[in-house]
Amino acid sequence: MTEHTITVAGVAVDTRHWIGGERVASPATFTDVSPIDGSVLGEISRGTATEAEAAVAAAKAAFPGWAATPRAERARLLHAVADGVEKRIEELAIVETHDNGALLRSHRRGVMPRVAHNFRFFADWLLKLEHEDFETRGHTNHVSWDPAGPSVLITPWNAPLMLATWKIAPALAAGNTVVLKPAEWTPLTASLLADIAAEAGLPAGVFNVVQGYGSEIGDALTSHPDVRRISFTGSVPTAKRISQSAAAQLTPLSLELGGKSPLLVFADADLDLAVDLAVEQYDNAGQVCLAATRFLVEETVAEEFTRRFTEKAGRLVQGDPRDEATDIGPNIHPRQLEKIDGFVQRALAAGARAVIGGHRGEGQYYAPTLLTDVAQDSEIVQEEVFGPVLTLQTFADEDEAVRLANDTRFGLAATLATGDPARAERVTARLVAGTVWVNCFFVRDLQAPFGGSRHSGVGREGGTWSFDFYCDVKNTVTAPKGWQDH
Ligand code: NAD
Repeated sequence: MTEHTITVAGVAVDTRHWIGGERVASPATFTDVSPIDGSVLGEISRGTATEAEAAVAAAKAAFPGWAATPRAERARLLHAVADGVEKRIEELAIVETHDNGALLRSHRRGVMPRVAHNFRFFADWLLKLEHEDFETRGHTNHVSWDPAGPSVLITPWNAPLMLATWKIAPALAAGNTVVLKPAEWTPLTASLLADIAAEAGLPAGVFNVVQGYGSEIGDALTSHPDVRRISFTGSVPTAKRISQSAAAQLTPLSLELGGKSPLLVFADADLDLAVDLAVEQYDNAGQVCLAATRFLVEETVAEEFTRRFTEKAGRLVQGDPRDEATDIGPNIHPRQLEKIDGFVQRALAAGARAVIGGHRGEGQYYAPTLLTDVAQDSEIVQEEVFGPVLTLQTFADEDEAVRLANDTRFGLAATLATGDPARAERVTARLVAGTVWVNCFFVRDLQAPFGGSRHSGVGREGGTWSFDFYCDVKNTVTAPKGWQDH
């Protein structure tokens, strides 16, 4: 324990950066607060261009060695990181819950095991990654996947370690070195991951963590000439800012951004299933990029759907995320709560009706809300709220359903509830969305492409798509034997 160690629910967390295999403190700090009760968790090192520079230098220095490390050895080390995560699931879960307020039971049983799986999956995928050689007029083409170089990964607070490791695992597997900048509202599990990576034997400088405000450390990372890839998950305004900064070096970008995804409920759907899918949209207090926040329901079943939804949503338990019985925890920050309430109050003033909710709860909680009588071009239908706020509109037929579904600037996901497979196929083909779920929600296989269209993002993550991004693909054309004779 040092003066830079804090204890969160009995778990020691280092509050400094992790650069080149060493803990580095900044002179300034920022305060990390728990959304559960507003308590101060600790003072965290507040990075600036100085730490950005040091972290990129460490990643650059470690890159040649890591890139040259045989695939099997890189894979072994990533499995060792997964082992370390699995050993510390309980600690990671409790710390993440204190930091971002999401449910402890889901961190413990769902999220953290999947964090370990992220490392195992990309370690194994690396070993499978091959392009077959092929011939052109007797010449051999050989395609190889060369590691691109130091990669900057910038992540949000809504699923901190899960989203970070979707990027860290493939970047490291590909042979890149990493500088991770977690969100300033949730800095803690990234620091624990640095401990785990070091214990697993990852060489110094291969994985680095810098903490701080995006506005203070971001530009130095994203405009750096030694950075070869930037992968960002977060909001559209920040993505635009990063795109401008990265343009200085033409650094390739992957952007996973917001959404305003629809849930389409057709009259032929199993309504109980549709209601189950609908209520799931309050998960993580609505702070899920993929959430289907716009219910589009066929007119003839809208009343019955609303009745069953209201009844089921009424049974959700809102409260302390450490409690097993809780379904909805707090929202992340007073500022976020302010933003959520602003959206809702403006919608109500514009004529929306709150079927449920429509107001704050106690402390840092927002009452689960469903609004109807909302216009398609209104702010509440067009903009991402990122809280437990859903809207309901009706449609008369399939054409109208598709038109409403596609009529926002986003294109992240869509969910359909229908009993007619032919309809599912027709509608899916017409939807603008990176992922379409039919009669299910949130099923994610790491080998599937994940990402959004329009303002929901640029590029895809998952399986081969991740390696496409983190590698410089090279084609080597070799002349046939005896070419001198030609
Ligand atoms: P945000 O854009 O405010 O912050 C994200 C990260 O960017 C943070 O680490 C922040 O410090 C950093 N940042 C801020 N300014 C920066 C700058 N100038 N340069 C570099 N980095 C900077 O987003 P947020 O509020 O943390 O996250 C919520 C958003 O993320 C929502 O819009 C949500 O939909 C989106 N999201 C998308 C996905 C997806 O996969 N598509 C997943 C989760 C969240």
